[in-house]
Amino acid sequence: MARKLAAGNWKMNGLRSALAEAKTLADMFPAPSVDILLCPPATLLSGMAEMLSGTSVEVGGQDCHTAASGAHTGDISAAMLADAGAGYVILGHSERRADHGETDHLVSLKTTAALAAGLVPIVCVGETFAQREAGETLGIIRAQLSGSLPEDCDPARLVIAYEPVWAIGSGKTPTLAQIAEVHDDMRATLSARFGDAAADIPLLYGGSVKPGNAMEIFDTSNVDGALVGGASLKAADFSGIVKAL
Ligand code: PGA
Repeated sequence: MARKLAAGNWKMNGLRSALAEAKTLADMFPAPSVDILLCPPATLLSGMAEMLSGTSVEVGGQDCHTAASGAHTGDISAAMLADAGAGYVILGHSERRADHGETDHLVSLKTTAALAAGLVPIVCVGETFAQREAGETLGIIRAQLSGSLPEDCDPARLVIAYEPVWAIGSGKTPTLAQIAEVHDDMRATLSARFGDAAADIPLLYGGSVKPGNAMEIFDTSNVDGALVGGASLKAADFSGIVKAL
């Protein structure tokens, strides 16, 4: 059985004043039965890690470079994220694939870098609406999984997030049957590659998860948690999702 994970992706949101939300969240769950993670923008990472040290809420980055250090202006390495207190990093989010042209191959190199730095990568996959309409969803997800996970990937330190591009920030979600179809297929794809270890890889669903729809999504086959954007910014909303899990 994979462990359960409620992960918040703050994206490019949050000034220092927002750290109070993280503290409020941690105070609400002194001994949670699931893993709780917040991925703030890089500017807040070390401040949040310090504020949450000794609590049950972990912190993560939203991206990393493939190299450990060097002449890469504006970039942040996985080792720097770990040094700032991160335990996880989101990789290959569809917004990075779209805004920065990230390919499956680049995501696989970043995954290798994250694992080498001791971080748990949360590798994101997901189809566009046009791909879903064309009946290509499962093929796209299988190709993204195959291309985004490096050869030397350790399944014991891996999280996958299925995020349909059209469901992110849109208020639209797939039907529960559609989520189950993709998550069951991802589990089968990972089992073919990693064997029994695939059963322990947390498979998160992401895209317009809210307190009101979280429970039914978490009851869906092979859904082990969520990657949450908008509803992770306020402790009042995110706590409802954590409780549902
Ligand atoms: P959303 O974003 O919850 O705001 O739809 C999810 C994500 O992009 O991770």
